[in-house]
Amino acid sequence: MSGSAVARTPSSGLAETLASLMPDLRGRLLADQPLADLAWFRVGGPAEVLFSPQDEDDLGYFLGRLPADIPLYPIGLGSNLLVRDGGMPGVVIRLGKAFAGIEPMDESRIKVGAAAADKRLAGAALEAGIGGFAFYHGIPGAIGGALRMNAGAHGTETRERVVEVYGVDRSGAKRIFSNAEMGYAYRFSAAPADVIFTGALMRGEPRDPAAIRQEMDAVAEHRETKQPIKARTGGSTFKNPPGHSAWKLIDAAGMRGFSIGGAQVSEMHCNFLINVGGATGADIEALGEEVRRRVRETSGVELEWEIKRIGLTT
Ligand SMILES: Cc1cc2nc3c(=O)[nH]c(=O)nc-3n(C[C@H](O)[C@H](O)[C@H](O)COP(=O)(O)OP(=O)(O)OC[C@H]3O[C@@H](n4cnc5c(N)ncnc54)[C@H](O)[C@@H]3O)c2cc1C
Repeated sequence: MSGSAVARTPSSGLAETLASLMPDLRGRLLADQPLADLAWFRVGGPAEVLFSPQDEDDLGYFLGRLPADIPLYPIGLGSNLLVRDGGMPGVVIRLGKAFAGIEPMDESRIKVGAAAADKRLAGAALEAGIGGFAFYHGIPGAIGGALRMNAGAHGTETRERVVEVYGVDRSGAKRIFSNAEMGYAYRFSAAPADVIFTGALMRGEPRDPAAIRQEMDAVAEHRETKQPIKARTGGSTFKNPPGHSAWKLIDAAGMRGFSIGGAQVSEMHCNFLINVGGATGADIEALGEEVRRRVRETSGVELEWEIKRIGLTT
């Protein structure tokens, strides 16, 4: 069942209202939680409510009773998010440990929870002698984000590994999506936006662990020398337009190192924006828009944000 609209007054906060609507809820429901601590850029306002379900049944119970007019947004490790300074109205869902399991099924298939870090999946596949997962060693998100974003690197994308994806929809129903139903394209999935992914079955191929180790070392070396991986960033800011590299267009527009407030275009990799200290969400977004404007002016190409910008401006 899907909940109906709920009356909210300033005296009854959303967290309290939801707790009273859901007496059997077992997960954590926290009011006014800072999101800057949960996103790589370290900027942005709070979530009106942050919910961490205890397990999949608890998530279904919550979603089934969540009033239809309350906005809902899932986050993973926040490595592809720019949270705006006014924060997120409604509920932000973040999956915890119960969703972080990784279980090799046979010599080529592996089941993984949405809260498992990509890096852990790469490590587990190495241990199980399953090839095809080394690219995850360099992506700092969790699997839920990889499933939504079709995360990819070094010539491999998530869609090449997915057999099926598990999730819970806004009505509280458990859903299974085949690879085709995920509707994957470059950094995009057409799966319904209201689904919270809880895990996936993925497939690689049997491979010598020593060869996998070598691939992972090469991935790590590439990251350390070519990307500002220790910075407060959101990774690649813009998608590569067809036939172009976003970073080359940004470089050609003279934007390498350009800054607004505490936000700067990385000197090391100019498709990365960085919070060099004291940036606001507004600084980072304004910088991104300025980059788009200059690239449009110099090359005629329209850059599309890859980073998800969420929440309200102040
Ligand atoms: C230094 C750095 C390097 C990066 N390199 C790469 C790279 O090489 N390749 C690449 O593809 N990306 C890269 N990224 C971007 C980012 O790591 C990926 O997009 C990653 O998959 C996001 O995962 P996350 O857990 O951080 O998701 P978040 O950033 O928290 O969320 C991203 C999106 O996924 C959705 N989402 C998250 N969890 C769920 C869930 N359980 N159910 C439904 N939707 C969910 C969110 O709603 C949001 O739309 C990089 C980022 C950084 C900071």
